[in-house]
Amino acid sequence: MAFITISGYPSSGKSKRAEQIKAALEQRLQDPSYTGPKLKVSILSDDTLNLDRAVYDSSRSEKPARGALFTAMQRQMGQDTILIIDSLNYIKGFRYQMYCAGRELRLRMCTVYVVTPPDICKKWNAEREDGKSYAPETFDNLIMRFEEPSSMVRWDSPLFTVLWTDEDIPGDDIWKSVTEGIVKPPNVG
Ligand code: ADP
Repeated sequence: MAFITISGYPSSGKSKRAEQIKAALEQRLQDPSYTGPKLKVSILSDDTLNLDRAVYDSSRSEKPARGALFTAMQRQMGQDTILIIDSLNYIKGFRYQMYCAGRELRLRMCTVYVVTPPDICKKWNAEREDGKSYAPETFDNLIMRFEEPSSMVRWDSPLFTVLWTDEDIPGDDIWKSVTEGIVKPPNVG
């Protein structure tokens, strides 16, 4: 029914934001005032695909990983699902490819750009204790190669930007962009 592409630097807080978005959407879907179709919210990520962060160490291992993400995305895209794609999604051409796949199925879509300065990402990457750190060289490489989402191109639009200092995500705007015109808005602020 819809998909939400998360994009951002390595260890910028994307998974945390993906969880916040999921919770915000579920809250609206579960509200008694919601009268639209029954929808489920799912997160697709390197973790749900069991992809180690080391796949980003070389383009030889990164390419099939990206292929796996794309295949899983196509499989999980359904009329009853809002799919959150929580991965780096840093290649413009890849985001375009996902947009085309979504358009073919007439899905709603939006992009959430998680903006955190590189030095803070570096700190969070070094400090994380969940085994999901990127190797220092890989981390630097990914930051260098990162292709920023832009609201000027149709495949990144609508684009919502979340700063590292933001307490929460723009739940209302995201909800609207994926459901407007399809369901009646609930009374949740
Ligand atoms: P990503 O999905 O971009 O790799 P995560 O959401 O997994 O990022 O977060 C990376 C690390 O940074 C985790 O250890 C997380 O706890 C920490 N982190 C994320 N957001 C914040 C924040 N706003 N303040 C402090 N630490 C954060």
